[in-house]
Amino acid sequence: MVIPFNKPFMTGKELWYIAQAHANGHLAGDGSFTKQCHAWLEARTGAQKALLTHSCTAALEMSALLADIQPGDEVIMPSYTFVSTANAFVLRGAVPVFVDIRPDTLNIDETKIEAAVTERTRAIVPVHYAGVGCEMDAIMAIAKKHNLLVIEDAAQGIMATYKGRPLGSIGQFSALSFHETKNVISGEGGALLVNDEAIMQRAEIIREKGTNRSQFFRGQVDKYTWVDLGSSYLPGELIAAFLWAQMEEADAITKRRLAIWNIYHQWFESLEAEGKLRRPIIPKECAHNAHMYYILLPDLATRTQLIGHLKKHDIHSVFHYVPLHNAPAGERYGRAADGLAVTLEMSDRLLRLPLWLGLEEHQARVIQHVTLGLMHA
Ligand SMILES: *Cc1c(COP(=O)(O)O)cnc(C)c1O
Repeated sequence: MVIPFNKPFMTGKELWYIAQAHANGHLAGDGSFTKQCHAWLEARTGAQKALLTHSCTAALEMSALLADIQPGDEVIMPSYTFVSTANAFVLRGAVPVFVDIRPDTLNIDETKIEAAVTERTRAIVPVHYAGVGCEMDAIMAIAKKHNLLVIEDAAQGIMATYKGRPLGSIGQFSALSFHETKNVISGEGGALLVNDEAIMQRAEIIREKGTNRSQFFRGQVDKYTWVDLGSSYLPGELIAAFLWAQMEEADAITKRRLAIWNIYHQWFESLEAEGKLRRPIIPKECAHNAHMYYILLPDLATRTQLIGHLKKHDIHSVFHYVPLHNAPAGERYGRAADGLAVTLEMSDRLLRLPLWLGLEEHQARVIQHVTLGLMHA
């Protein structure tokens, strides 16, 4: 049997809730399932306001609008991330300024942020890689000192915490993803979390095509009209119904993922001791969510060989990220703060192993073949 890299987990209730949404007859956005999802997100993250979006990408685009990013503004972020982190701001004419990552967590290196701040800097976008929190206390302090916004890319961060605070609840805004490769899913999907009361209302307006429709539905205004910039960022009820089935099981999903993660981690301890690989490092202040299990191999050649070995044995593994700063669009739109040596090195060495619910019965085979593949390396 082929062991895929990812297999979306279904709780079993998705179609039942979709049937309910169908029966309710409300198919556009912001119906009862969407409201349940918002309430759940607000309760679980402590965010002041949660708004479902089509994707994390859409939530990041909303953040750029809410932050009033203007052409020529600079936004500090890692190069080691998904393209949407940068694109959301480039769409507003901003320049992403790419800062290197820490060798332990592969998160933005907070000690290198301040040197990248200029008078054009408007925001810092920490990305919580693999659901492991960035050093948020240091990042928030730098932002405060220089009067910058902090927009968390918490695409991978649901159910994870930093010093007990849920990821996504620390910066002014944050973006979550429910893409099928994430822990809690709706196919495509995401959410914007707003932790700043002053902009909660504007977030609703931007999400509703620049109209005050949400206030109208609450009876706060007697007609709705075009009041601001905006677009259509809200998903329909069928997506929210699917997502609700997943949210109900989010604790159980996280628990099972952590169990799989821990099995990898225990088995690879001896390979790490032999110098064959390096395992993920989780700082004490972070409770992660087992979004991914990766290994760091000695070099690119070893990684290429191991991917080939695993593939030959029907096990799919993947690498990422291809850094943004030296990608064609990254060179055109962005700027690297320095040589980004750690980013370049890690992007050559990192390999992600399969991690999905149901892998339990095949995991021994993955571990066996990683071990065998590295014996000859
Ligand atoms: C998955 C991901 C995104 C994009 O999420 P979508 O919901 O697919 O738009 C953005 N940033 C990071 C770090 C991600 O992992």
